[in-house]
Amino acid sequence: MTADAPLEALLVVQGHDTRLDQIHHNLAALPARAERDEAVRSLAAVEAEIVTVTAVRDDLARDQKRLDDEVSTLEGKRKGFDTKLYSGTITNPRELQDLQEEIEALGRRIGVLEDRELSIMEQVEPVEARLAALTASQEQGSTARSDAELRLTAAEAELAVALEQETGARRVAAASVPDDLLASYEKLRSGLGGVGVARLVGNQCGGCHLTLSAMEAARMRKLGAGEVGHCDECGRILVP
Ligand SMILES: [Zn+2]
Repeated sequence: MTADAPLEALLVVQGHDTRLDQIHHNLAALPARAERDEAVRSLAAVEAEIVTVTAVRDDLARDQKRLDDEVSTLEGKRKGFDTKLYSGTITNPRELQDLQEEIEALGRRIGVLEDRELSIMEQVEPVEARLAALTASQEQGSTARSDAELRLTAAEAELAVALEQETGARRVAAASVPDDLLASYEKLRSGLGGVGVARLVGNQCGGCHLTLSAMEAARMRKLGAGEVGHCDECGRILVP
């Protein structure tokens, strides 16, 4: 191992850590997740509207049934009066006239109820159409959500593979770095945006990109094995 070998290995570790950070960032910001969330939201909205529209439809159906029953009852009553009227059992003209008037009144009442029923049927039509459209949307939305789930799972799996590879490679590289150097790197890295070590490029720190004095850069290059130089400006470990 040359004098710089641990520092060179540390740069390799840094490369893996940077990629790991990137993978974690990508995992958190996967477009497939936003798409899945949107698909879930949109399906939930359709399903909520189905509940509302179904309730409206059921209310109308109940009203229709109630009117239907009322009309049937009144028609039965009218039929009874009709039978009585033509049975010949009633001869009193006053009574006959009352009966006739009763039958006419029932007819008018039935007409009013039937008009109401017709108006309800007209209201039901667009509600049923909306419900059919919503049911179709629900089917599409459900398929879209499943597709989005699959895409998200695939994207996550892809990143999980990359994560595992990088983690393994980092472990191998880190094995060549002394523990105290690695600990110092980790501490710097956590406080400096993920970058704890950088290359000295010419007289410039590869971490903060500020230029060191020629004397300082020259001193850095003359450090012996086990000695570690830091950037005056950012404090990062510098590898000459
Ligand atoms: Zn620096």
